[in-house]
Amino acid sequence: MEQRPLRGRFAPSPSGRMHLGNLFCALMAWLPVRAFGGEMVLRIEDLDPDRSKMEYAHQMEDDLLWFGLDWDEGGSKGGPHGPYYQSQRQELYAECFRRLEEKGLVYPCYCTRSELHDAQAPHREDGSPVYSGRCRSLTPEEQKERAARRSPAFRLEVPDRDVFFTDGYQGEYRENLAQDCGDFIIRRSDGVYAYQLAVVVDDGEMGITQVVRGCDLLDSTPRQLYLYELLGYPAPEFYHIPLLLSPTGRRLSKRDHDKDLGYLRSCHKGPEPILGELGHTAGLLDRQEPVTAKELAQVFREKPPSFPNL
Ligand code: GLU
Repeated sequence: MEQRPLRGRFAPSPSGRMHLGNLFCALMAWLPVRAFGGEMVLRIEDLDPDRSKMEYAHQMEDDLLWFGLDWDEGGSKGGPHGPYYQSQRQELYAECFRRLEEKGLVYPCYCTRSELHDAQAPHREDGSPVYSGRCRSLTPEEQKERAARRSPAFRLEVPDRDVFFTDGYQGEYRENLAQDCGDFIIRRSDGVYAYQLAVVVDDGEMGITQVVRGCDLLDSTPRQLYLYELLGYPAPEFYHIPLLLSPTGRRLSKRDHDKDLGYLRSCHKGPEPILGELGHTAGLLDRQEPVTAKELAQVFREKPPSFPNL
């Protein structure tokens, strides 16, 4: 297959100040792009209007630049594949949604939360239920009757098929779409397009060739690969990095203020000690020594990260 020029991206959700884990992710997405002469895209994933704030998006840009993690297009900088804010890309999602509908693969789902959490249902590893397909076979009359009471979410019907891919860091991964995942939501009942659809449309339209992100999204990848196929975009390569944990072993969240970048920046004159810590965590440095992002990119050229310190 023809090799596409390397295009990476960082796709943060502006729902709070970034923490060290988000920064680690941004760094690991940025390093291969800068090490091997690719292009870096910043896409702001502000799909959810209730949780996203523009001020956080601006703060993220400021934080990234403070650490020396620049980008070639996206965010407030704009560029040829814009807009780079998901909230401004609704038309594109609607168009792809229609294409999936035309294939006869989309149906309305009226299930309530408690119907979805039926104890009988098989559950995914993260505890969420595999959708039973309950609304797939509603008759038009039943749909009408239920539509009078609630507005539906829309699901994509998935085939009974294994999706297999090799993750750059996690190795081989396989999932049966019907059994392990089930028909999944591509538009929420409040009309917001789901992350799974938006991320594929965006990475596809923006010509992204390499997706580096947290391991919590590893099990979203088979669904996304299925969408790439249906929508006719070439799929990128995936690299899922281990999540940074808090000292108590929990994964970091935007509520861990001692790891938020506001606090961390206030403790240091420059970014080098923090980048040194992350470089060591990734196995790029033998010890935690101050380093710039550019210097780490040099190291990355010579040796891939191995994440020994996680
Ligand atoms: N917006 C997602 C997040 O901040 C990342 C999505 C992705 O990288 O695919 O967790």
